[in-house]
Amino acid sequence: DTAEAIAQRILAMFGDPVRSGNHLLTIRASIGVAMIQAGDEPGELMRNADTAMYTAKAQGKHRVAFFESQMFESNLSRFNLQLDLQVAITHGQLRPVFQPIVELSSRRVVGVEALVRWDHPSLGELAPDGFLEVAAQAGLLPRVDHAMVAGACSWLAEVDRIEPNLVPWVNVNISPQTLLEPGCLDAILAALRAHRLAPSRLGVEVTEYLMAQDADRALRTLHLLRDAGIRISLDDFGTGYSSLSYLQRLPVSTVKIAKSFIDDVETSSGQRALTEAIVAMAKALDMYIIAEGIEHPQQMDLLESLGCMAGQGYGFSKPLRGDE
Ligand code: C2E
Ligand code: MG
Ligand code: MG
Repeated sequence: DTAEAIAQRILAMFGDPVRSGNHLLTIRASIGVAMIQAGDEPGELMRNADTAMYTAKAQGKHRVAFFESQMFESNLSRFNLQLDLQVAITHGQLRPVFQPIVELSSRRVVGVEALVRWDHPSLGELAPDGFLEVAAQAGLLPRVDHAMVAGACSWLAEVDRIEPNLVPWVNVNISPQTLLEPGCLDAILAALRAHRLAPSRLGVEVTEYLMAQDADRALRTLHLLRDAGIRISLDDFGTGYSSLSYLQRLPVSTVKIAKSFIDDVETSSGQRALTEAIVAMAKALDMYIIAEGIEHPQQMDLLESLGCMAGQGYGFSKPLRGDE
């Protein structure tokens, strides 16, 4: 067998969900492969494999990348990526792209989600999957998130100047690390004030993983954000701990149903039943429901008939540059 075939077989083994207690976990893998040559040091081999793995992640995760010497020149190792990221934050290489969120009944844009992109000087545009993990390890996530809050507010204020009412609100993703940092609330409110935006123009997307950290403190900050008039959405609902009681404990007004449900909603009666159950539950709690990762028109119609109010996905639009 070739190394490629072996690596692909290992990757395929991660396809099936794994049961852990009462949870089904989908595990994905990024594989970096380096070939040993006569005279190579073991440390060098490991570093090359690590570099290839980070390339696989940066290319979108769940794939295999073979080490090539130009990867080394682009210095894509964990350590270098960390250093590069510090520079990127201070030099404005991070920018938000914006994906429309569309009301299913009218097919009108009701809001947008801001998603971070990194214009890396030698690697080109990097997706968040390629660097958020490194940012988390280096404690840089709060700076990334606040940079996106600032970028999203400044963009929305500019859109308002060109065409008022075109974009009702913008959502940003806030990691638990950011939320738990003292001063998080003040920094978000300061960004809104700097651009003269009402707090209702900004939404914050959090995931259930938040509750795995310092739940009490996270909840306090979320309540303060909510009380300040900022909408809170539960992102990727259904993939995390998904204890139903979280839905009631968290001050969220919106549930975003994870793409993994939407992918199979037409073909799997099980996924469809789960989606229906999530919709029923969210409706009972008076929440707004957004379906994520809609790629086909048939999904739009079905999800509308199931009671989802809005959708987001390549089927409507990929994330776009601010000027687009
Ligand atoms: P998310 O918040 O659930 O964002 C949705 C992701 O799904 C985005 O990926 C988006 O481009 C992608 N997507 C949307 N529609 C479709 C579709 O129809 N098909 C497919 N295949 N994908 C679709 P992206 O931009 O790569 O972001 C990935 C994740 O990284 C986000 O998931 C979010 O959890 C995180 N993220 C992005 N920006 C930030 C940020 O500024 N701060 C933090 N803390 N996390 C961020
Ligand atoms: Mg999100
Ligand atoms: Mg999501």
